[in-house]
Amino acid sequence: MFASWNNPRAVKYRQLYEIKGLLGTAVNIQAMVFGNMGNHSATGVCFTRNPSTGENKFYGEFLINAQGEDVVAGIRTPEPIAHLEKEMPEVYKQLVTYKNTLENHFKDVQDIEFTIQENRLFMLQTRTGKRTTQAAVRIAVDMVKEGLIDKKTAIARINPSELDQLLHPTFDPKAKKQVIATGLPASPGAATGRVVFNAEDAEKWALDKKEKVILVRKETSPEDIGGMHVSRGILTTRGGMTSHAAVVARGMGKCCVAGCGSLQVDYKSQTFKVDGKVIKKGDYISIDGSTGEVMLGMVPTIEPRLSGDFATLMQWADEVRKLKIRTNADTPMDAKKARELGAEGIGLCRTEHMFFGENRIDSVRQMILSAPDVKNLKIKIAALEKELAKATHNKTDAVKKELIQVKKELKEPLNLYTSALKKLLPMQRRDFEQIFTAMDGLPVTIRFLDPPLHEFLPQEEYNQKEMAKQMKISLKEVQEKVAALHELNPMLGHRGCRLGVTYPEIYDMQAQAIIEAACNVKKKGIAVYPEIMLPIISTEQEFNLLKDNVHNIAKDVMQKKGIQIEYMVGTMIELPRAALIADKIAKHAEFFSFGTNDLTQMTFGFSRDDVGSFVPEYLEKGILEKDPFQVIDQEGTGQLVEIGIKKGRSTRPQLKVGICGEHGGNPQTILFCHNVGMNYVSCSPFRVPIARLAAAQASLQQPISRATV
Ligand code: PEP
Ligand code: MG
Repeated sequence: MFASWNNPRAVKYRQLYEIKGLLGTAVNIQAMVFGNMGNHSATGVCFTRNPSTGENKFYGEFLINAQGEDVVAGIRTPEPIAHLEKEMPEVYKQLVTYKNTLENHFKDVQDIEFTIQENRLFMLQTRTGKRTTQAAVRIAVDMVKEGLIDKKTAIARINPSELDQLLHPTFDPKAKKQVIATGLPASPGAATGRVVFNAEDAEKWALDKKEKVILVRKETSPEDIGGMHVSRGILTTRGGMTSHAAVVARGMGKCCVAGCGSLQVDYKSQTFKVDGKVIKKGDYISIDGSTGEVMLGMVPTIEPRLSGDFATLMQWADEVRKLKIRTNADTPMDAKKARELGAEGIGLCRTEHMFFGENRIDSVRQMILSAPDVKNLKIKIAALEKELAKATHNKTDAVKKELIQVKKELKEPLNLYTSALKKLLPMQRRDFEQIFTAMDGLPVTIRFLDPPLHEFLPQEEYNQKEMAKQMKISLKEVQEKVAALHELNPMLGHRGCRLGVTYPEIYDMQAQAIIEAACNVKKKGIAVYPEIMLPIISTEQEFNLLKDNVHNIAKDVMQKKGIQIEYMVGTMIELPRAALIADKIAKHAEFFSFGTNDLTQMTFGFSRDDVGSFVPEYLEKGILEKDPFQVIDQEGTGQLVEIGIKKGRSTRPQLKVGICGEHGGNPQTILFCHNVGMNYVSCSPFRVPIARLAAAQASLQQPISRATV
């Protein structure tokens, strides 16, 4: 027994269930009875209810004339417990009485071991029965109906993270699997399909050949979105839990394993190597987004089923929770799904994700290609005008001439730029109209463009050629633009509100599209509450400048349409500086949403796209207890959140505060959000039920709020 404490299975078990800090195991030594003393003796294991379905029916197995070891060793096949009634009716009756007593006493399913020695029943052990999530939900709801437990106990009994199992397909636990690598469990689910190495092949194979595919990439970028959409699952070798692949896959409810560093992907030969094996394009693999496992071949899956008990449990959770639950959704389809799963609004609509749909990428690229020229020429014009104002007579002519010339040069890129924005405006407006309609009556937080512009341009040559062809420019020109937009640290570069400051026309177009859409749907009787959100704010001045632009445009649109919209302008808190000066920002910002993906990145100085290469080792060595991109680091990042809330509410006491980083769907983080007095958490659609339950559990703990609310 002592030796077994350290066998690999026991170690793995403790790792999986996060059982830490124990000294060892204790052992009871006691006299035993014998189940192998002839045909009036037996041994068995039983559950007071079915642990796999939750059905309230006595469940178990026994063996006549055997010891416990014989049941475990599987040499003989045990019989179902019901047969014991025929074999030994008196003993069976006694066993049923005892199991009822035990379940009534512990008020939970019991896993019981017994031995019968010459017609005499001995109860050896009882413990809480392990059960599937499906069974756990049914048992909790049944026990409330039977008056055995109350609703609060039922809510506390279910592990919110395990609800994933009910919402996504899972691998058949009986199936054989050959695990070849393990990455980060980035988006739950089970997927099987043929390996493809680029988005184009994914689309070709999935749409034309109707194949199930798994998209394998070193990392994904926005240009892979189409391929990701049609793939059964996504596997990347780089990137952490908040990398592009992870975030997008979670939003789509698609299975994803990220940061699987042991895979050596070679795009040229269309293969990946792992553990001495070579997997080629077209080979079958299976990936488990809940464990991070990558397996060879096709592993059979089981589809999810949602029961009425699940809805009942969710309703009880809603009755007690204080936090509102919103969703991160960028499409009307995701918004609808999230609403079905109980979302009470959108906490983050990443508008850049809309830039890739329905042929609009061409207009986006046209906008990006012309924007820097427009900006540079405008700067030149401003400088020349300044010079002209103070120029001496003999210099004036030369400056004037140059000014005319520069203004002429501006015409072409300016035309391209404004025509691209003009094309994008109705498309964005339509997106917002659809999302507002799907969320009728609920708030919708829309974030202005955030990623650095180069992300919208193709990085690989074959895609660049394609773009050159489509835009009727040379490959060289495309490559020059891509090179010009290259940044050494794009995550710290020209992104977020910095784009709004330097290219105000982009944010203006987005503001116009949002308010016009709001007016249009309001006219149809839809209740619309847009919340416009500015990303990567670090100074009060940045926020003020951009907020004023939004208000001006909104005023203009509302006047033209003759409709008033109740809208707000708020900010994301994603940078340590923003949290530290939150009192100043809150003077102008009507709401805060903590973008804890970036806030974690900026607090640790860990690139969120590169953590796959070292965070697993940090976790193994105990340097980090949890991946800070999954569970909020309360000590550091969390402190900034608390400071941000406290300071924000010091100048705006009613400030609405939420979280929209990936942490928003993590139960431990949700408890933290509840404790610091947030108003809502926002997470991907499929995590909404998890968040509802976790928020209810947080309420039931009734902790003292540490932030001054
Ligand atoms: C964040 O930084 O937490 C966030 C939600 O924004 P994004 O992930 O799009 O950077
Ligand atoms: Mg961010």
